[in-house]
Amino acid sequence: MTESRDHGLGIYISIPFCRAKCTYCNFASGVYAASEHARYVDRLIEDLTGARAWAESVGAVLPRYVDTVYLGGGTPSLLAPDLLIRLFACLRSEFNLEADAEITMECAPGQLGDATLDAMTDFGVTRASLGAQSFVDSEARASGRLHSRAAIEADLHRLRAAGIGNLNVDLLAGLAGQTAASWEESLLALIDSGVSHASIYMLEVDEESRLGREILRGGSRYHAAQVPGDDAIARMYERAIELLEDAGLYQYEISNFARPGCQSRHNARYWQRRPYLGVGLDASSMLWSEPTLAAKATTSRGRRFGDHVLRTTTTDDLKAFLARAANIETEWLDAARQHEEAWFLGLRMNVGVEVAALEREFGSQLVVPARETARHLAKDGLVTFDGESVRLTARGRLISNEVFQEFLQLDAAALSGRV
Ligand code: SF4
Repeated sequence: MTESRDHGLGIYISIPFCRAKCTYCNFASGVYAASEHARYVDRLIEDLTGARAWAESVGAVLPRYVDTVYLGGGTPSLLAPDLLIRLFACLRSEFNLEADAEITMECAPGQLGDATLDAMTDFGVTRASLGAQSFVDSEARASGRLHSRAAIEADLHRLRAAGIGNLNVDLLAGLAGQTAASWEESLLALIDSGVSHASIYMLEVDEESRLGREILRGGSRYHAAQVPGDDAIARMYERAIELLEDAGLYQYEISNFARPGCQSRHNARYWQRRPYLGVGLDASSMLWSEPTLAAKATTSRGRRFGDHVLRTTTTDDLKAFLARAANIETEWLDAARQHEEAWFLGLRMNVGVEVAALEREFGSQLVVPARETARHLAKDGLVTFDGESVRLTARGRLISNEVFQEFLQLDAAALSGRV
């Protein structure tokens, strides 16, 4: 693949700092001193500056044109404005940002200062994502969130007034104390806010979060006894689909809904397997190789012909990251792994997977067994398959991980001639 504007790059920057830890959270994020923030940004700038040389050294292509940038976390809006300005300046100097690039920054309600908002608009942030999770104050408090409904609404107003009108709000189904009625209250508040995009997640409590440990061991500090059951959470998700679609926010991915033309271009690149560079704690990259470079790398790095996709993940240990210890895992994916990914990433989107396109990319030896799997899943009502495209059904979306599992390991069987 040669560098071109058609194959622009996405850049994800992880900012793992939060003002307080939410009870259910087990992300690589935490509460750190301002001095750590500065060291962290120094390290990000080093990694962005060195990205091109690094990509070249491993035989991957790093497109120069960037069409999406996403600052996620954590809470990027917590970074001091001078640090944010340094980071933005580095992005501008190292990459060619397209004039119409989508630039998203996650913000926590009530944690977006005026100077930060100025830095965002000066840089050209086009989209903001507000991690609300709930518009019901008592629920937000019970989960360790620090905001009120009034703070969410005030920040949406400030962002719009600053010219950032492409807005997402996240909601989480399954918070302690949440009921069908309070969930409906949050959904209606989101709809009333007029945002162009909504992300709806079903909470899966991680055993390593404080809430998860309380569910396992008992206790009342984090309100574990008030966490809704799986069936109640599934009904909340289904209700979200109904209400949001009635309000013109159409589902385009398992967790994402948008008004026409307002889908997240950055997130879509993950599901469409378009290249991205992730920098920072626990960040992932996906890059393609030059076919010519792939051949060269075969001898020096033990890759096989056809391994054209590189995936990397950075450590989730902040100390190791700041100490610049060897902390990036890299893996070249062979055709079978790429084919698996094409299924479980593609099926996340409502448009589904076009089987003929996969046959052109991977050949029928890999795709025929997957086609058979799709037929079986269609009989079970988990996908639809019209002979051309495979799409999850509403039931399939609720148990999507089980559906995706069906597309794993098929390839090994196909390649060894067992299918
Ligand atoms: S704001 Fe997000 S990343 Fe930070 S603690 Fe809460 S859930 Fe975790």
